[in-house]
Amino acid sequence: MGKVLKPRFESDELKILRYLDTRMVLSPSDKQHYLNLKKGYEGEVMFDQRTEKLTCDCLILNDLLFKVNSTTFQIDSLIIFQGTIRFFEIKNFEGNFIYEDECFQTVGNKKIANPHHQLIRSDLLLHQLLQSHKIILPIEAQVVFVNPQCTLYECPCNKPFILPTQMDAYLAKLDNTPSKLSEKHSSIAEKLISLYIKKSPYTQLPSYKYEHLRKGNICPLCFSFSIKVVGSKLICLECGYEEKVENAVMRNVKEIMLLFPEMKITTNLVHEWCQVIDSKRRLSRILDKNMEIVGVGQWAYYENR
Ligand SMILES: [Zn+2]
Repeated sequence: MGKVLKPRFESDELKILRYLDTRMVLSPSDKQHYLNLKKGYEGEVMFDQRTEKLTCDCLILNDLLFKVNSTTFQIDSLIIFQGTIRFFEIKNFEGNFIYEDECFQTVGNKKIANPHHQLIRSDLLLHQLLQSHKIILPIEAQVVFVNPQCTLYECPCNKPFILPTQMDAYLAKLDNTPSKLSEKHSSIAEKLISLYIKKSPYTQLPSYKYEHLRKGNICPLCFSFSIKVVGSKLICLECGYEEKVENAVMRNVKEIMLLFPEMKITTNLVHEWCQVIDSKRRLSRILDKNMEIVGVGQWAYYENR
């Protein structure tokens, strides 16, 4: 069975951009950056859903950032098989592309960097990394185009690309390759997990201030601000999503902490942020129950337990 040893999570950068996108007007370039990250993440999740279904003996490590000789590189997905380490550069390209002069061109003649070049770079750096830790196993690298709405014309067939129409056959082939993992493979996985960089140094966020953000509880499903309190629940007037008040408050606290890690969580702050819950006493009860109170009286604030 395929085992996911390192799952993928949404990055803080993507979460923050999503919050900001609902609470302020992003500049066109920030908005584009947000949409690119979102699309990339969705593509990666699409691929994860496929690799999780592998039934052969393999270890799956998703979303890894490494540093070797002061150069960082990203691996979208890495799978350890008995005889090979395979890694994948995942692309969620959508639409028609023409392969020309080692470049990807859109039908509108826009040039897009060839992901093969990125793959070659990562391949080289991963070799160096494994070598420096005396890990000896052949590496195979591939670019996966996950979006079924992606067509690539005039692509030479010797490229390490897996096109949407080839994906099923490719995964079936992997699944049918005999693979029996041993202690050695687990220790390679552990080593790689110990080496990856937990927090990406490359975030690109706009500057934002507490005062400038629109306050209010956002529906986690449709991002609407139209919310009504009914008893112990919040109901979204747009999509009908129901959420317990307590869960919504704690979700908002997490959002404030991510957006403003330097701010102290107080009942007043959460009250102003959520808007929708009138009673401060009710908010305090929820915060008391879920968090640790520090200090007393008007100076009191809350921290994670
Ligand atoms: Zn909604």
